[in-house]
Amino acid sequence: MEKPAIAGGNPVRDTKLYYGHQYLDEADYQAVLDVLRSGNDLTCGPKIAELEEKLCWITGAKYAVAVSNGTAALHVACLAAGIGEGDEVITTPITFAASANCALYCGARPVFADIDEKTWNIDPQSVRERITERTKAVVAVDFTGQSAQLDELLEICREKGILLITDGAHSIGTKYKGRPVGSVADMTTFSFHPVKTVTAGEGGAVVTSDPALYERLSLFRAHGITRNPALMEKEPDGPWYYEQVALGYNYRMTDIQAALLISQLDKLDRFVARRREIVACYNEAFRRVPQLIVQEEIPESDTARHLYIIRLRPERLSIGRKEFFDALDAENVRCNVHYIPVYYFPWYRKLGYRKGICPKAEKLYEEILTIPLHYNLTDQDVEDVIRAVEKIAAYYAK
Ligand SMILES: *Cc1c(COP(=O)(O)O)cnc(C)c1O
Repeated sequence: MEKPAIAGGNPVRDTKLYYGHQYLDEADYQAVLDVLRSGNDLTCGPKIAELEEKLCWITGAKYAVAVSNGTAALHVACLAAGIGEGDEVITTPITFAASANCALYCGARPVFADIDEKTWNIDPQSVRERITERTKAVVAVDFTGQSAQLDELLEICREKGILLITDGAHSIGTKYKGRPVGSVADMTTFSFHPVKTVTAGEGGAVVTSDPALYERLSLFRAHGITRNPALMEKEPDGPWYYEQVALGYNYRMTDIQAALLISQLDKLDRFVARRREIVACYNEAFRRVPQLIVQEEIPESDTARHLYIIRLRPERLSIGRKEFFDALDAENVRCNVHYIPVYYFPWYRKLGYRKGICPKAEKLYEEILTIPLHYNLTDQDVEDVIRAVEKIAAYYAK
C-alpha cells in the first residue's frame, strides 16, 4: 500500500493546490483599463447599469441592485424586507457568518434551522418547526451551489406571509426546476469575492422581480437618499434637491469593479462547464471510496458548483477530520472547511446560542473537508487530488 506523505511517503505533487482561486484573462484587464481611460464616472456610472442589466438577463429577475459585497447585499435585502428590532430570521448554521449577521445588523434574532442530511442544505421541515409569530423572513443558502428546496420553502413563506431571501453567494449559474436562481425567491443575493465563481475583487448584488422591494433596495444602498419626487415629503426646492427618507448606507460598487465583473460574467458558461467536469470526475472517483460520502443532489437543482466537499465516514477510518486535513496538506493539497456552524462563534455564544440546536449540522461539521475546485485546475491537478484522497483513505481505512 502506498504511504501518505505524512507517514513518510512521497507527496502526490510538489506545488500546493488551493481550494479556490480566481481566473483572470486579458479581457478582464482590458475591461478595467477601459473604464479608467474612459473619463466616465468611476461610481454610479454606465458600467453599473450595464452590469445590473446583465445580472437580470442571467438570473431571470426583473431588477438587480449592485452593491459593494455579498454581506452588504444580505444587509440591504433584510432592510428592504422590513426586518427590525424584535423580529426573527430563520437561516442555516452551515454557512458563512454573514447569512446570519445580516439579521443582527437589523436588530433581529437569527434562528437556526437544521440541515437535510443528504444535501446539507436547510431542511424545510426544520424551518417550519422553528417559525414563530416573530419570524419575518427565511434566509436560505444555496450551499456549495446546489439550490435549496425553493418551492417547499416558498410554500411555507407564503403560508406564513413572510419573505424568502436566498443567499446565492455560491450559486450563480445554477438552475432550479429549469429556472435560474434569482428568479424564484423574493430576493436573491450574490457575492463576487475572489473565491466565488465570478469576481469583481469585492462585489455583491441583490436581484428581485418585485418593484417595491427594488425601490427599497436602491434606497438602502445609497444612504436612504432619493431624487425621485414621488418618494419625497415636500416639493423639490429646485433641480439640486434630494431627500433622505430612510437610514441607508454607502454600499455602492465602483464602475471599475462592475467592468471586471461584466467581463467575468462573459465567461460564466465556461467557468460552470469546467467546474461541472471536475465535479463529475470527483464524484465518480469518490463514490468508489468506502470511507467517503459524496454530497447528494436534488433532481430539481441543475447545479453550478462552487465548493466540492468530501464527507468522511468516521466508523470506517482510523483518523479524524483534522488528521485527514493534515495528511492532504502534506500531499500539497490545501483544503478548507465550510463551515463552522455559525452559532459556535463566541459572538453568538454571548448572545445565548448553545451547542445542540442543530444536531445534523453539528455532525456534518465534524466530518467535512473542502477540496480544490476552480477553473484553473488542470486534469493533472484533479487527478492528483483524487490520488491523494484515495491514498489517505486506503491507508487509514478501518
Ligand atoms: C462569500 C459569502 C458571503 C459574503 O460575501 P462577501 O462578498 O464576502 O461579503 C455570504 N454568504 C455566503 C454563503 C458566502 O459564501
